[in-house]
Amino acid sequence: MTEDRETADEPLLMEQAALPAAGIFLDRHQVFVNTGEPIPIDGDRVTALCGTSLLIGPPPTEVLPGIPAMRFADCADCTAVLWAPPKEVGGEEALRIFLRLPGTMPVHIVEIGAATPAPMPLVSLCGAVFGVGQPVDRVDAGDGTPCTLCLLRSLSDRAHIEVAGERTAVG
Ligand SMILES: [Zn+2]
Ligand SMILES: [Zn+2]
Repeated sequence: MTEDRETADEPLLMEQAALPAAGIFLDRHQVFVNTGEPIPIDGDRVTALCGTSLLIGPPPTEVLPGIPAMRFADCADCTAVLWAPPKEVGGEEALRIFLRLPGTMPVHIVEIGAATPAPMPLVSLCGAVFGVGQPVDRVDAGDGTPCTLCLLRSLSDRAHIEVAGERTAVG
């Protein structure tokens, strides 16, 4: 059997459940796939954002012998990476603020230079524009459901570096 590897058209996040280090909830890890990289399939070993090595495939059916795996919990470390603190941009620390339009779900990420006054209108990483005078909720990091595109863009640099580093080590 030959398997044609599909490559990612755009950065994407995959979820993969794995046995927890402790407790009875399966850990739900996040795996980042950058544009042009092969999309992992069952049997592939991948590295989650938190650094855990995972085997892609159906989630385990039992957490412990005789204890069925019924519940999932988001891996706290993967989540922490997703909501990582601002990175330094050219010596100037970028301030990351989280905005949500009232009545909508996704929380968008806007990066602004800490030393410069906030530009108006604000443009999120995914391209959403928050105009002057537009009502907008500012939320705390980790609150609400992050906008996927914003998330991916906020972490793609680093994830790319990590993946590239691992490749070099392997090959
Ligand atoms: Zn994880
Ligand atoms: Zn967004």
